[in-house]
Amino acid sequence: MNEEGIKFGGFIQDIIEEDIASNRYGGRVHTRFPPEPNGYLHIGHSKAICIDFGLAEANGGLCNLRFDDTNPSTEDVEYVESIMEDIRWLGFDWDDRLYYASDYFDQLYEYALQLIRKGLAYVCDLSAEEIREYRGTLTEPGRNSPYRDRSVDENLDLFERMRKGEFPDGSRTLRAKIDMASPNIVMRDPVLYRILRVPHHRTGDKWCIYPTYDYAHPLSDAIEGITHSLCTLEFEEHRPFYDWLLEVLEIPQPPKQIEFARLNLTYTLTSKRRLRRLVEDGYVSGWDDPRMPTLRGLRRRGYTPESIRTLCERVGVAKANSVVDYAFLEHCLREDLNKRALRAMVVLRPLKVVITNYPEGQVEEFETENNPEDPSAGTRKVPFSREIYIERDDFMEDPPKKFFRLAPGREVRLKSAYYITCQEVVKDPSTGEIVELRCTYDPESRGGMTPDGRRVRGTIHWVSAAHSHKAEVRLYDHLFLTEDPEEGGDFIANLNPNSLEVLTDCRIELALAEASVGDRFQFLRHGYFVVDPDSTEDRLVFNRTVSLRDTWQKIKDKS
Ligand code: ATP
Ligand code: MG
Repeated sequence: MNEEGIKFGGFIQDIIEEDIASNRYGGRVHTRFPPEPNGYLHIGHSKAICIDFGLAEANGGLCNLRFDDTNPSTEDVEYVESIMEDIRWLGFDWDDRLYYASDYFDQLYEYALQLIRKGLAYVCDLSAEEIREYRGTLTEPGRNSPYRDRSVDENLDLFERMRKGEFPDGSRTLRAKIDMASPNIVMRDPVLYRILRVPHHRTGDKWCIYPTYDYAHPLSDAIEGITHSLCTLEFEEHRPFYDWLLEVLEIPQPPKQIEFARLNLTYTLTSKRRLRRLVEDGYVSGWDDPRMPTLRGLRRRGYTPESIRTLCERVGVAKANSVVDYAFLEHCLREDLNKRALRAMVVLRPLKVVITNYPEGQVEEFETENNPEDPSAGTRKVPFSREIYIERDDFMEDPPKKFFRLAPGREVRLKSAYYITCQEVVKDPSTGEIVELRCTYDPESRGGMTPDGRRVRGTIHWVSAAHSHKAEVRLYDHLFLTEDPEEGGDFIANLNPNSLEVLTDCRIELALAEASVGDRFQFLRHGYFVVDPDSTEDRLVFNRTVSLRDTWQKIKDKS
C-alpha cells in the first residue's frame, strides 16, 4: 500500500491474486526483469524493475534477472556489468537467479526443429526487404512467401545448414507459418531466426543464426518457469504470438504476458538508443553525465534510490500511457533529501565583505544545526571573522523596494551570526565592478537577535574568508528545452544549450572540506548538492542535485 492507501501493482496485482486463488501456477509467483544489454538502464527501467521485483516480493514470489542477449551486434559485457550494479543500487536483488537468453540457444534450436516437424515453421529465402514487401500493411493483407510450402524434410535440411554456416548473412530466415492475412501484422509469419555472423559476448562463434526477441522471449519465460511476464504496452500486439508459440509447443502452465504503461517524464528521453546517441556524439560527457536520465547519471547527480522507488510507487501501475511531470520526481527527491541531507553554508558567487569595526585577528564560533529536520544530526561550529564572503546577488547597489537583502545603508542578518550594515561599496576603478563591501556589525546582535527587538527582514548566508575552501559547483538545468524532447522530430535540435553551468570560484565552509564522493548536503538557500567523483585531494566538485523550489508542491497546493 502506498500513502494514499492504493495497493501497489494495481490491475496486475489483481490478476496475480486471482491466479493464486485459483491455483493456476500451484500458487507460485515468478517474474523476471529482462533487459537487453545494449545500453545503460534509465529511469524508465526503474519502473519495470520496481514492478517485476516488487510484485514478486509482495506475493511471496521470486524475480529473475535475465539478459535478453539475442542480438549480438548491439550488445556488450560492459552493459551487463553496469545493469547488475544499477539494479542493486536501486535496492533489488535476484540472488542466484541470473540468466541469459543465450544460455537457452540449444533449447531454442530444438524447439525450432519441433515447429518445423509440426509444419509450423519454414525456411524462407526472401530478403529482409522482400519480407517487408510481402508483409502487407495495416489495411492490406500480406502475401504468402513463395517458400512457404517447402516440405518438412527440406526445411529441416535447410535450417540445419543455416546453423552450420552454409549460407551468407541475411540470405535466409526461419519463419513461423501462421497467417499472412491476420489483422495483426505480428502474426504474419514472423521471423524466428536470422543468419548473422557476429560473435556473441557469451557464445562466441558457436552460432551464426540467432533467434529473434519475439521467439526467444516466451520460450525463455517457459524454460525458467515464469508465471507472470510483465512488460510495457508496446508488446501488446506481440502477445498473440507469445500465446500461440507456447500453445503449439504444448508448454504446460504457460506463463502469461501482462502489459503496463511505460514511465515517461517531461523533458526526459527514455530510450537507450537515443541516449546512446547523446553519448556517442558527445552531447553529454558519458552515460553517467549528471544530466542523463540513466540510473548512473541520476546517481552521480545525487538522486537517492529511495526517491526513485517512491516515484515508481506513486505513479503506480496503469494500462494507459501518460507523461509524468519531472517536477514530481524532484518533489519525491526533496522529500527524501530534506530528511537526510546535512546543512551547510556555501557561497557560489563570492563577494568579499570586510566588517570594519570587528577586531582584526578575532575568530568567534557560532553553533548551528546540521539538520533542523533531524535533531540527531547534531550541531556544528561555524567560524566567523572580520572578512567574510556573501553571495554577489545578495547585494544590490540600487535595489528595488522589495529587495530585503544588503544594499548601501541597509542592514541584514547573517545566518546564525550578527547583523551587518553596508557602509561603503568598493569598485575596481578600471572596470567599475564591485569588488568589496565595507560593513559594520552590531555586537549586540550576536546569534541574530538584538535587545531592542528591531526587525531585519533579510537573512543571508556567508562564509568566513579565512575559514573556507575554494570549490567547484556545477549547476544543471533540463537537458532539453521542450517538455517533449522529440517535439518537431529531432531531439538534438531541442537540446538546452545552458543545461550545465560551472562555477569554479565557490567558497565552502570548513566543515565541508572533509566530504567524500557521494556525500549529500543542503547548501542553505541553494538546494541539494552531492560530491562529484571529479573531486581531487585539494578541490571538491559538487553537483547541484536539485534546487529548493518545489514546483510540484505549488501545483498540488493550488489544486
Ligand atoms: P529502450 O527503448 O530504452 O531500449 P527497451 O524496452 O528496449 O528500452 P529493454 O532492455 O528491452 O529496453 O527493457 C527491459 C525492460 O524494461 C522491458 O521489460 C521493458 O518493457 C522495460 N522498460 C523499458 N523502458 C521502460 C519505461 N520507460 N517504462 C517502464 N518500463 C520500461
Ligand atoms: Mg528492447
